Amino acid sequence: MAVTGIIALPVSSPMDYHTLFVTSLVSRILAVIVLSGLAFANRTLLGLRWFSLALLLWVVRTAIEMLRGQAPLAVTIPLCTYGANAIASFVYLAMFLGFRWFLLRTGPRGRLVPALVLVSMTLYPSEIFFGLWTRYPVGTLPALIAGFASVHLLLTRARQPFVVVARVTAFFFALFLVFTGYRTVVLTHNIAARGLRVGAWPDPQILVTMLVLMILDFCFVASFIWFYVVETQFALRQQTRTDGLTGALNGRALEVEAEREMARCRRNGGALSLIVLDIDYFKQLNDARGHDAGDVALRSLVCLLHEELRLHDLVARTGGEEFLILLPETSLAAARVLAARIRLRIEQSSFGYDDGLPICITASLGLAELAAGGNDTWLALRRRGDAAMYAAKRLGRNRVVEQTEASPVLLFDPGER
Ligand code: GH3
Ligand code: MG
Ligand code: MG
Repeated sequence: MAVTGIIALPVSSPMDYHTLFVTSLVSRILAVIVLSGLAFANRTLLGLRWFSLALLLWVVRTAIEMLRGQAPLAVTIPLCTYGANAIASFVYLAMFLGFRWFLLRTGPRGRLVPALVLVSMTLYPSEIFFGLWTRYPVGTLPALIAGFASVHLLLTRARQPFVVVARVTAFFFALFLVFTGYRTVVLTHNIAARGLRVGAWPDPQILVTMLVLMILDFCFVASFIWFYVVETQFALRQQTRTDGLTGALNGRALEVEAEREMARCRRNGGALSLIVLDIDYFKQLNDARGHDAGDVALRSLVCLLHEELRLHDLVARTGGEEFLILLPETSLAAARVLAARIRLRIEQSSFGYDDGLPICITASLGLAELAAGGNDTWLALRRRGDAAMYAAKRLGRNRVVEQTEASPVLLFDPGER
């Protein structure tokens, strides 16, 4: 029998309500086991914990819903209606926090979480005062808000490498929310027509929406696992591309990035500059304060560089205490200003260390720019940068030198201050 007065799905054969419910409960329990196992094995991936919590709450919600039509009304009304709705909003909230962790690496901060908890906690007990047609849509509202917050987050805040998985998940999530809304309308209609004894409903619309939601459940679990796979693949790729001590790119990754940037630069006709940076008298620091102090200086220097640079500038560790900074879309004039700022910040910084004494370093910097015309090569560009840096060393260190084809040009001499 189709539901009248609302959009009805084209179905006629009723399915077995309890078989569907038990199947969905069992598959959700299996999903919880799988996700919890993954979260346990990868404890640093906090997003996986939120996903497992969401699935666990979902199992609780399904189990509670099974009581509908089985237990006395005094139990089913508060538990199945208000309790299940409240849990649903927390399910969506946990999912939102999971997505947020993967996409933004942030925990449950912001106003959405306390606001949603507050709305849920005040809304559900007050549902008792609403009429049937107000109560159910209002009851699902916090869950739908949290759900749409996830869809919005997935569509607007996904960065590489999560763009594809985020879009696919947003699509499933939106579909899921549409069906959840549809189910609420059908459910309300059924309850209005036949009372709360759900198990006895012959309406195939309810059963079909349950089946569709079950299939979408599977898509959710697949998405969560997909997020995990993308994350671990990205971490592995990062490991092969970066230097373990400082997190800067390694030489091999630099070559790849440099070729890509040079090709882009030639295509678009933009500028490309680089800075070769070498710490001065680093051996002395190691000898005087120990190797660990040297490591602290290297790590702190890379942090300092990232603070000074734009997001798409690249920092690579090309030797023990030598770094190369690649500056896409940056002319020599702009690189000059940046190099002067970096040199000054290094000179003025003191890095904290275990022994209580600050670590102070200086660096020599060499500048070079990709020549216009398309004949310049990466090797030649790097050589010019190296030559400029060595010139800075020869001229007394802690200075910036830029290399033209003809001769090095000293840009800053600390002795002249
Ligand atoms: P200059 O001013 O001419 O650059 O002198 P320098 O002492 O900085 O250069 P040198 O090439 O003589 O010494 C580099 C030192 O860097 C020697 C090496 O022990 C140290 N070093 C290389 N890799 C690491 C590392 O990963 N950690 C630490 N702590 N030291 C390193
Ligand atoms: Mg050095
Ligand atoms: Mg060196």
